Amino acid sequence: MKQYLTYSEKETHNLGKVMAKKRQGNIIALFGDLGAGKTTFVQGFAKGLGIKDKIISPTFVLIRQHKLKKGFLYHIDLYRLEDNLSIKELGIDEIISNPNNLVLIEWAEKMEKNLPKNAIKINLKKLEGDKRLITIS
Ligand code: ADP
Ligand code: MG
Repeated sequence: MKQYLTYSEKETHNLGKVMAKKRQGNIIALFGDLGAGKTTFVQGFAKGLGIKDKIISPTFVLIRQHKLKKGFLYHIDLYRLEDNLSIKELGIDEIISNPNNLVLIEWAEKMEKNLPKNAIKINLKKLEGDKRLITIS
């Protein structure tokens, strides 16, 4: 387990970028409240991979796909996941099980039981002001 404190949006962005360069796993599950910095982290991560697309929150679409040199990066946001839609029906099972895919999931709380054991879990916690506690396990 590793813990980081960031004090600005830029620092969280940069942490994402550094994590992307390390490439420790294919599935990254992001936990934390609205405004904690999950999307910011994903934006930094995509930057670190050299993705030029603008990374916007997929809140309304749930899943966005970005081309990598090999395979795809999937940016998933389960905030608006409806109870009657399952992870399986959305094809998330399939996305996750393809080893060519790199997958970042916001609001991973919503599919915690379906996360693979090897998923990297990143918890972002809003502290006072712009301070964030980021725990990676
Ligand atoms: P989430 O996806 O978790 O809802 P976002 O990344 O979309 O969060 O938004 C984070 C918001 O908090 C942004 O408005 C950003 O400017 C602000 N912010 C302030 N401090 C930080 C920090 N240390 N890390 C990340 N975002 C921060
Ligand atoms: Mg978000």
